[in-house]
Amino acid sequence: MWSRTAGSLKRAFSTLFRDRLIFVIGESDMLTAIVGTNWGDEGKGRMVDLLSSGYDIVIRYQGGNNAGHTVINDKGKFILNLLPSGILRENTVNVMGCGMVIDIEHLYNETKRLTDKGISITPDNLKISEKAIICMPYHRLLDNLEEDRLRDRAYGSTRRGIAPVYGDKYMKKSIRIMDLLSPETLETKVRNIVQWKNLMIEGGYGAEAVDADEMIAWLHEFGDWLKPYISNTTLFLADAVRSGKKIMFEAQLGALKDIDFGIVPYTSSSSTIAAYAPIGAGIPFAKLDSVIGITKAYSSAVGEGPFTAEMFGEEADKLREAGGEYGAATGRPRRVGPLDIVASRYGVLVQGATEIALTKLDVLSYMDKIPVCVAYEIDGERTTDFPLGDRLDRAKPVIEYLEGFKTDISGCRKQEDLPKAALDYVKYVEKAIGCRIKYVSVGPSRDQYIVM
Ligand code: GDP
Repeated sequence: MWSRTAGSLKRAFSTLFRDRLIFVIGESDMLTAIVGTNWGDEGKGRMVDLLSSGYDIVIRYQGGNNAGHTVINDKGKFILNLLPSGILRENTVNVMGCGMVIDIEHLYNETKRLTDKGISITPDNLKISEKAIICMPYHRLLDNLEEDRLRDRAYGSTRRGIAPVYGDKYMKKSIRIMDLLSPETLETKVRNIVQWKNLMIEGGYGAEAVDADEMIAWLHEFGDWLKPYISNTTLFLADAVRSGKKIMFEAQLGALKDIDFGIVPYTSSSSTIAAYAPIGAGIPFAKLDSVIGITKAYSSAVGEGPFTAEMFGEEADKLREAGGEYGAATGRPRRVGPLDIVASRYGVLVQGATEIALTKLDVLSYMDKIPVCVAYEIDGERTTDFPLGDRLDRAKPVIEYLEGFKTDISGCRKQEDLPKAALDYVKYVEKAIGCRIKYVSVGPSRDQYIVM
């Protein structure tokens, strides 16, 4: 116990000098998850990049390359789809956990883009779980075939194969990262699975059958280079937990995109919830000490599905432009709206958030008055409990307005620097969503934040 605390002390002081951030010293934040409280794109990547300075290890625990984090720091602007955001820090070890689905061609290209810009990526700072699942080209194909079949009823998938690959995981017909290390087993497995897949691709969709030899060649082309990165990350992380290393779990997407708790079927196919982090990371015996929920000062969503407080027309265009709301993975314009208290409160609840980072407050500075969705009206009744299913489809937003701050706040670094109306907004949100706001971010760069 003492050595863990002493280790924390040392790290907290070095952190203090590196980044002017003061972490609580002690056991309370040894294992921390950073998660989204809404539909994703809340600015998690930027907060992980900022906070990871205090952590030894950053782990991605779910999802694949269907979403992207944008991180801007002193080395430049980076878009990360698969790699944990800690990869941009020199002394951080990054783990891609067993809950992930990894398109190894995408990972190869993403890694190359970073190393071309001078980021060092080696088996010392990147460890890929042997149990993670490979997202194959036929998963992409099936994602496309199904979205095309659905036409105007499409789920709004990113078409990167995520739903089909998770489906196969639970059908126990998937290729795992560890299979790359046993070429003969790999080949037999691929041939069997491709035969099964073609029943659907050719027989069901009437598309051209997938060729097993091509799949095997693809696995060698993009799998051979990553062999040195494959490891038993459960053992590595178990040792890390025992020796008091600080670990951060980085989520992709938000609570409302969770496969169980989200707006099914317009969700992702993975668990975006903090409680899943230890499992998807490969250390199910570990318990989280804290959960930082990332909440954006307004709302955005990608894909189809209910988005109760959605803005349209000129009002939406202005907010989309001000916030740069275009998908990091796909470039698609995002749907936007005011902060939705009903959805955010639900997100805070299911994430078990212990504190909140409120991001992009600066984006609201052009508004004369700030709209907030304070409740829903469903069949003539007002509610603040987030509904699911067809009740959500019928929900109408109840909008109230708060005073705008009409000042550039991107230079604010202390709570006292914020204009009163901006501080009032933060305090209002804190009370309404029921969780302490610890960080407020006022710009995309590493130093543009306030510790409250
Ligand atoms: P993530 O997937 O949750 O990491 O979110 P994205 O990376 O898709 O979206 C966040 C975007 O907002 C990125 O372009 C960030 O650089 C940017 N961003 C993050 N925090 C702030 C902020 O406080 N203010 C502004 N103006 N931009 C921010």
